[in-house]
Amino acid sequence: MGKATGFMEIEREETIERDPNERIKDWKEYSTPFSDDMMKRQGARCMDCGTPFCHIGMEIDGATSGCPVYNLIPEWNDLVYKEQWKEALDRLLKTNNFPEFTGRVCPAPCEGSCTVAISEPAVAIKNIEQAIIDKGFEEGWITPRIPQIRTGKKIAIIGSGPAGLAAADQLNQAGHTVTVYEKADRAGGLLTYGIPNMKLDKDVVARRVKLLEDEGVNFIVNTEIGKDVTGDELKNSNDAVILCTGAQKHRNLPIEGREAKGIHYAMDYLTISTKNLLDKKINNEGLDAAGKDVIVIGGGDTGADCIATALRQGAKSITQFGKHPQLPVKRGSENMWPAYPQVFSLEYAHKEAKAKFGEDVRQYSIQTKKFVMDENGELESLHTIEMKKTRDENGIFVFEEIPGTEKVWPAQLVFIAIGFEGAEDAIIKEFSVSATSKKIDAEYGDFRTNVDGVFAAGDSRRGQSLIVWAINEGREVAHQVDGYLMGESALPSVVNA
Ligand SMILES: Cc1cc2nc3c(=O)[nH]c(=O)nc-3n(C[C@H](O)[C@H](O)[C@H](O)COP(=O)(O)OP(=O)(O)OC[C@H]3O[C@@H](n4cnc5c(N)ncnc54)[C@H](O)[C@@H]3O)c2cc1C
Ligand code: SF4
Repeated sequence: MGKATGFMEIEREETIERDPNERIKDWKEYSTPFSDDMMKRQGARCMDCGTPFCHIGMEIDGATSGCPVYNLIPEWNDLVYKEQWKEALDRLLKTNNFPEFTGRVCPAPCEGSCTVAISEPAVAIKNIEQAIIDKGFEEGWITPRIPQIRTGKKIAIIGSGPAGLAAADQLNQAGHTVTVYEKADRAGGLLTYGIPNMKLDKDVVARRVKLLEDEGVNFIVNTEIGKDVTGDELKNSNDAVILCTGAQKHRNLPIEGREAKGIHYAMDYLTISTKNLLDKKINNEGLDAAGKDVIVIGGGDTGADCIATALRQGAKSITQFGKHPQLPVKRGSENMWPAYPQVFSLEYAHKEAKAKFGEDVRQYSIQTKKFVMDENGELESLHTIEMKKTRDENGIFVFEEIPGTEKVWPAQLVFIAIGFEGAEDAIIKEFSVSATSKKIDAEYGDFRTNVDGVFAAGDSRRGQSLIVWAINEGREVAHQVDGYLMGESALPSVVNA
């Protein structure tokens, strides 16, 4: 149980980050490796509270609370405290296929519901998770596990994001022949093209894809299902098909002047920037922020990733617009433990922007009204107005414009980062699967679509979410598909236990 009195004696230690002014000169990960001693101290803080809310993995008030893959957190905290790293790794891999991803970029809903966090800063769970898996790779404890028996059943997975990879891993280990199809030129989904390199090094993603390949999973990249291969071809040549195609249909901002040159979707920008980095190209295909006034519309993490990318390209100025007011420093009475803490924080990108420009670049409670372009159609400025967030007579939040707060912002480059509508129409049509509000209809825990033999998991089913939920769905859909093919399944499942 860690050290009995550890939570009273030892303080939380945060991720050690590289100097923001230095790290914006390169694209390497912004955090530094942890020492074993530091992790041992943090493991000692786990109080083994008896009812560990840290791994409840459920939605409270629309936000995730506790770990969605139900990681055995108190167990590996204790093992790290006792320096039994190999045993800690075995425990971790029981529930999480890819802790090297979640340990780096999960927003750690486990920490918001950690019992220590009722009165003190939470146990540094996410850092411990990363330290365990990184040590596993460093020590050579992670080697290909090649299935000894093959069932002869063939499964096609469309999409190589965390949902597709987790499903592929589980089903391959069950002895099925798994092929993952990916339309991009590299596997990984948003782990590769979406999340920037400074948050998640692409070598870490490639290492895992290589390991899966060595274990027998087939990857076919540069192949779009519905264009290069039809859905019928896949259905006819496989015993089951799983749609793990994500929810990357852009949400647009169709206001006056939207056609101006210089306005781009955040995802296009992040994808091109990472592709150029990996292909070692200097030219950013017209999407270079160097010397420009950049505005990011959307206050979320995708917007923050655009800030970090534009900083590294040498933007002249950067501003991020958010519709919502600034969050409070401490939990409000409507946001009590163990719900995810809705509190103000400076993300890595915001720290970097503050170091570079001397202030937080976020503007809150603001709405863009129109874009203005010059005679050549090039974006020149944005017009905004401030908003007031109130509740209507039914208690629903509504936004009202505040007259007299109009403002004009010079900008040559704008990134739209206001979320995603859901799954792409093309894949829904190709398989004739039914969908509601752009989410493929397939009940959680069952994952069957209306088409026999076709399953859906991850963001394509759930809507844009988190890596850890995608891993959860990949594991759970694998259990269901295995049962569909074999009559029953020995693969782990929490929902169908
Ligand atoms: C910019 C950004 C940053 C994010 N940062 C974080 C973060 O820090 N932490 C976190 O937990 N979550 C983050 N998320 C969310 C997280 O990345 C997603 O929830 C997760 O990747 C969903 O996994 P998935 O496997 O369902 O889909 P995806 O990762 O979206 O993968 C779907 C894959 O399917 C492929 N595909 C689609 N259609 C076809 C087709 N017809 N043929 C072949 N291939 C196809 C796509 O090319 C893609 O590679 C972020 C999201 C974005 C956009
Ligand atoms: S996967 Fe996320 S929620 Fe689960 S233990 Fe790791 S950081 Fe916490």
